[in-house]
Amino acid sequence: MPKETRSTCPYCGVGCGVIIESQGDEITGVRGDPDHPANFGRLCTKGSTLHLTASNIVTRQTRLLHPMQREQRGAAPQRISWDSALDVASEGFARIIREHGPDAVGFYISGQLLTEDYYVFNKLAKGLIGTNNIDTNSRLCMSSAVAGYKQTLGADAPPSCYDDVNHAQCIFIVGSNTAYAHPILFRRIEDAKAANPAMKIIFCDPRRTDTAGIADLYLPIQPGTDVALFNGMLHIMLWEGWTQAAYIAEHTGGFDALKTTVRDYTPDLVSQTCGITKDDLFTAAKLFATSASTLSLYCQGLNQSSSGTAKNAALINLHLATAQIGKPGAGPFSLTGQPNAMGGREVGGLANLLSAHRDLANPQHRAEVATLWGIPSVPDQPGKTAVEMFQAAADGEIKALWIACTNPAQSMPDQATVRRALQRAELVIVQEAFATPATCDYADLLLPATTWGEKTGTVTNSERRISRVRPAVAAPGETRHDWSIAVVFAQRLEKLLPVQKISTLFPWSAGDEAAAVEGIWNEHRESTRGRDLDITGMSYAMLDTAPQQWPLKEGENTGKVRLYEDGIFPTDDGKARFVNTVYKPAAEPRESRYPFSLTTGRLRDQWHGMSRTGTLGRLFGHVAEPALQMNAQDMARRLLKDGDLVYVTSKRGSIVVPLQASPEVAVSQAFMAMHWGGEYLSGLSSSGEPLAGVNALTTSAYCPSSKQPELKHVAVKILKAELPWSLLAMAWLPQDQALAAREQLKPLMASFAFSSCVPFSNEVPLGEAGRQRTGVLFRAAGFEAPPEGLLQKIESILGLGGADALRYVDRKKGQHRTARLVHRGEDAELAGFVLAGDVSAQAWIKTLLQDELPAQSYGRLLLLPGAKAPVALQARGKPVCTCFSVTDAEIGACLTDITHAVGGAGYLASDDERLQALQDKLKCGTNCGSCVPEIKRLIRTAGQARPAAASGGRPVIPIKVLA
Ligand code: SF4
Repeated sequence: MPKETRSTCPYCGVGCGVIIESQGDEITGVRGDPDHPANFGRLCTKGSTLHLTASNIVTRQTRLLHPMQREQRGAAPQRISWDSALDVASEGFARIIREHGPDAVGFYISGQLLTEDYYVFNKLAKGLIGTNNIDTNSRLCMSSAVAGYKQTLGADAPPSCYDDVNHAQCIFIVGSNTAYAHPILFRRIEDAKAANPAMKIIFCDPRRTDTAGIADLYLPIQPGTDVALFNGMLHIMLWEGWTQAAYIAEHTGGFDALKTTVRDYTPDLVSQTCGITKDDLFTAAKLFATSASTLSLYCQGLNQSSSGTAKNAALINLHLATAQIGKPGAGPFSLTGQPNAMGGREVGGLANLLSAHRDLANPQHRAEVATLWGIPSVPDQPGKTAVEMFQAAADGEIKALWIACTNPAQSMPDQATVRRALQRAELVIVQEAFATPATCDYADLLLPATTWGEKTGTVTNSERRISRVRPAVAAPGETRHDWSIAVVFAQRLEKLLPVQKISTLFPWSAGDEAAAVEGIWNEHRESTRGRDLDITGMSYAMLDTAPQQWPLKEGENTGKVRLYEDGIFPTDDGKARFVNTVYKPAAEPRESRYPFSLTTGRLRDQWHGMSRTGTLGRLFGHVAEPALQMNAQDMARRLLKDGDLVYVTSKRGSIVVPLQASPEVAVSQAFMAMHWGGEYLSGLSSSGEPLAGVNALTTSAYCPSSKQPELKHVAVKILKAELPWSLLAMAWLPQDQALAAREQLKPLMASFAFSSCVPFSNEVPLGEAGRQRTGVLFRAAGFEAPPEGLLQKIESILGLGGADALRYVDRKKGQHRTARLVHRGEDAELAGFVLAGDVSAQAWIKTLLQDELPAQSYGRLLLLPGAKAPVALQARGKPVCTCFSVTDAEIGACLTDITHAVGGAGYLASDDERLQALQDKLKCGTNCGSCVPEIKRLIRTAGQARPAAASGGRPVIPIKVLA
């Protein structure tokens, strides 16, 4: 019998409970925890494949298992002992602090860390070293939400909860592709809508994502115009008398100034600014204000902006003006991106915060924290936030960087500056579970950390619910827990630095893990006494029974489900504050030289820099390769077509990427997934620098209040890349070699003007993962054929370099073709191929390989440049449902039959009937449900394409837009 361990999913802020199955030192399965109040047993595509990313076959190839030191930059790191590694770290930090002062060092940590890890790092920087230079990748995802809550409601506390979805009469989803980024919450929205069809959903986003499919009203605003929209809605609410004067008078302040400001936001001006109709603007304002309860759900579309705080505040203004707060189904509810961004906020793990939501700028708060820690003072100088920290390192001001559990060489904007910082810093320490992130290449010292399935501690999800994280297997290799690495380092540093204290600030022993983490958490708990997030009534024992929401004060039995029900806010006078928000355009607006607005966002099946999800070929089924999406009209105007390579260029950098038409993207806009870093998409710039993925383009311009950078908008130009020489190489590889092969291919990527390298798999249902195969797909293009030796190297890495491979080479014409067939029964299948030069046969040869079709009869055609398949090969199509391996082609084929099956010829089945019939037949969307929004879109699209006569005269429209 496998051992079962209750824990929490390490991906997004929904914070789903999981049950991990393990045998010995191997994680063998995962399923949703039916008792966890965030998900009640459900998991999305990412959560339900966690065990596959944690299998020993994968981790043996990707994990950092031993401390490593790089003697000089660019050299391969060498294994060293923990003792030596900690000596290097502590002596290096101590020397730099002695020579240049405490602000010459910086810590860049992560919303993936557990609360206990976060707490120790924060105390290490602010309490021991005496610097506030500690920030986190959560700065990139939710610091605008923090600032927005604090400016309006007085504290960084999301007032709502997931259950509010069931009580709302109107849900306003803005700047959030909830269907993809918070899938299990989206399942709850789907259920709530099904149970209460009268509930209205407004969706507002420049991109018509799959979240739009559930909306009654879609507002496709221009990028960055949210404040104008919200102010315009308030203008209409005031004009129509929909605001709540009594609530405003009794529970808020500052309304008069805002009222004067929004007078200028007339429907004409706002509809023009935002690019929506006045009717839709009016409908949105009416639904928001007059519904019995309105819940706003928002995320990076508001936060990742140079006006991020103003966007958050302007939306909260609407809730305060209409009293849509403090009651079931109502409130402004920011969704956190990372699993423990909330926990980081709670312990003050940001450059401007202190423990328990205290402010660094507040002398009383500093004194309280100093007393708690037993030190004379905490430093009063504001620390460097993420962008500032890397800029300071690039300028030589910060000389030592400690990076834990995050990959700034992929995720930070303006990669040129970030990489300059990593190169210039005297000492770069990277504390990581994986050896594969791009940041590892810059580390002088690599410290191996434990990860999901191995760690113990707590995390807090978007609805303020604290859950336990528990270990299912022992720490592999020489990995250590993040808190433990920080504690041992701190204890050594205490001996090297002249600190004024009697005993250690870190009285926890790495030898007694359970007692140590509970001790750290108890100290954090004590810091919350009397604060808005008071958890003095909680204990590890209580959390072991069930996850709990904060606040939960001493003497109480349960946490607060929702906040501000009494209309009293955590401000000096107990009143919330309206912020006088004024619309400002994006920091870098579109202009004639950079005429496109590029936005970034998440894919359904990938997570952040993909150090975990990027190990599984099956998670590349939904989106197989990096691409830039554009509107078809823009492409036609520029004579571009699907698959063309384009240069995408901003003021900071340029990348080469394949192009793809997308109906989700509006004219003059473009989209690229945030995940595609230099590990997957590379090439060589004209100045000879390796290209750094999508964040080579993005801007580090940030919101002045939250310092969150504007990752959601950058002005770019898009031009066709004329690269006449192309290469596509694919091969199945043994499971225990595929990831290692990708690592060997990585250094070769910069040899080409464009290159990408991703895994792929044969699509098998999740329940049959045992027969899953893994392969590697390498694509490249250049101005001319590379040296033959380079192609041979690629062949060799892909297992195609042997004498058993068929080969054709014409060096003069730059043609190189290799195919390896292996016997399968009486036929043969393609094990791998290289097409270099002419790749026009790629579609059918790729299908032959990926769909594992009999290949014997194709023989020499595989080597013939430009050869066509003798019989048209029908690809299985793009996987939509990865749980049951159902493709778009299969769904499309099935949809035609379904009309007849449900009601006979001439009958038009409703969308719901067709979904049900599809699911009965193909099972798609019946497991995790992550693909349901896309299946519904395919159903709507199929309906649109049908002739009017066949539709029985019933209108079929893609989104039900309210009049
Ligand atoms: Fe994990 Fe998916 Fe739940 Fe997010 S929604 S916590 S990724 S299972």
